[in-house]
Amino acid sequence: MNIYGMTLTELENYFLITKKKKFKAIQVYDWLYKKKVNSFDEMSNIKKAVISKLKEDFNMDRLNLLKVQSGKDVHKYLFGLTDGQKVEAVLMNHDYGNSLCVSTQVGCNMGCAFCESGRLKKVRNLEAYEMVLQVLMAEEELGDRISHVVLMGIGEPFDNYDNVMKFIDIINSDYGMAIGARHITVSTCGIVPKIKEFTKEKRQVNLAISLHAPNDELRSQLMHINKVYPLKEVMAAVRDYLKVTNRKVTFEYIMLKDVNDSDECALELASLIRGMTAYVNLIPYNETSHIEFKKTDRNKIMHFYDILKRNKINVTVRKEFGSEVSAACGQLRSSYEEGR
Ligand code: SAH
Repeated sequence: MNIYGMTLTELENYFLITKKKKFKAIQVYDWLYKKKVNSFDEMSNIKKAVISKLKEDFNMDRLNLLKVQSGKDVHKYLFGLTDGQKVEAVLMNHDYGNSLCVSTQVGCNMGCAFCESGRLKKVRNLEAYEMVLQVLMAEEELGDRISHVVLMGIGEPFDNYDNVMKFIDIINSDYGMAIGARHITVSTCGIVPKIKEFTKEKRQVNLAISLHAPNDELRSQLMHINKVYPLKEVMAAVRDYLKVTNRKVTFEYIMLKDVNDSDECALELASLIRGMTAYVNLIPYNETSHIEFKKTDRNKIMHFYDILKRNKINVTVRKEFGSEVSAACGQLRSSYEEGR
């Protein structure tokens, strides 16, 4: 078992079961996430006998960093997993800190028409340690702290719910990387039962919903999941989330040229979310070589933005990162596999 997949509570229980004091867990977390050692032997305040037992029960294997691609304010990491699969993470330097976009699955079954990740069907879920190590290794590569984590890489986080929640617990722990819950964002294409489950947990983690269309007809063309959980159900679940948690929600809206960027779409979007404590994040589409969609021109995006503003919708336009390093989800893995 990889030790980076252990929550602090699990590690405390492990020590209790093996008749050791549970504060050892805090010491181990300190070595793993603050001092960032590479081996159990370096944990110098822990007794030899305990170290031997730890070595018997756990490994601390890292992922294999296969490739780093850098552009202005962006670094992209391709990681090899122990079974030879590959996933990627993208680091963005914002003025407010370093934000890492983490993958949650190998491939993705959601099959959104515009998305590169889904070109590879889901092979498997990532284990918690495989997500934790994306963050830890990116921090090491960067030589700086990662302050924000967004679960917007390859995969659908709510299709790997338990491991994702475990991952969040681990990076959120004060004794570990201590990434604040409000600095962590989970993004979902709209798996309604999981939105409901997430609501019940009342976590301080941010929720983002990939909306991309203001009506069922268009949304179903772009996102298969809408045929399973249509807009009405998604919006009802989100309304309930807002009521129970008193938090805000983000709606992500990729701007696809001549597909979902008309004035009518903007007005329909405004009436869909009117009255909710929500904001819309307009995402300039990252064109990929495999998929036919084109990005909406900047002027048109700003026009769409203005319509939403005039209709009293909170709206932002996502800063563009890494189009020069093909930073759209799944693009690096794709190009690596094809030897480009
Ligand atoms: N499955 C989750 C999280 C991964 S995708 C979800 O759907 O939310 C993270 C975000 O990136 C989603 O909003 C997704 O629609 C968007 N995205 C996918 N491909 C993109 C591209 N080529 N350019 C810009 N955004 C993209």
